[in-house]
Amino acid sequence: MSEPSIFTRILDGEIPGEILLETDDVFAIRDINPQAPLHVLVIPKSEQFRDVTELAAGDPALLAKLVAAAKRIADDHANGEYRLIFNNGASVAQSVFHVHAHVLGNLEENKLVG
Ligand code: ADP
Repeated sequence: MSEPSIFTRILDGEIPGEILLETDDVFAIRDINPQAPLHVLVIPKSEQFRDVTELAAGDPALLAKLVAAAKRIADDHANGEYRLIFNNGASVAQSVFHVHAHVLGNLEENKLVG
């Protein structure tokens, strides 16, 4: 077994993090280095999938749950609208290989990224 990812360690309470949502399958934390007024990561509890390509092929229902959680975050912390970003591969800046969606919101301050 490899080491738990940094996200799993936050979920397990081993390192600090602000958990905004938790269901049976997914959880959401505030990004430590926000790129937008709202920047939350939505993450499956399972570390089985490295990126969204693998997740979509391997468990599309779990991907749908991830999107539903992103919408809930946007409803609770923004105006219901959100940008959803997946980095897929080191060359496009993925650094944590436990699939996660970046949920960005409240972008009216023009803090657009990407
Ligand atoms: P990148 O680091 O280039 O954004 P990823 O798409 O893999 O690549 O995103 C990992 C995200 O995890 C980053 O946005 C980073 O700020 C965030 N992050 C890293 N460590 C923590 C932490 N301890 N708590 C919350 N977010 C974290």
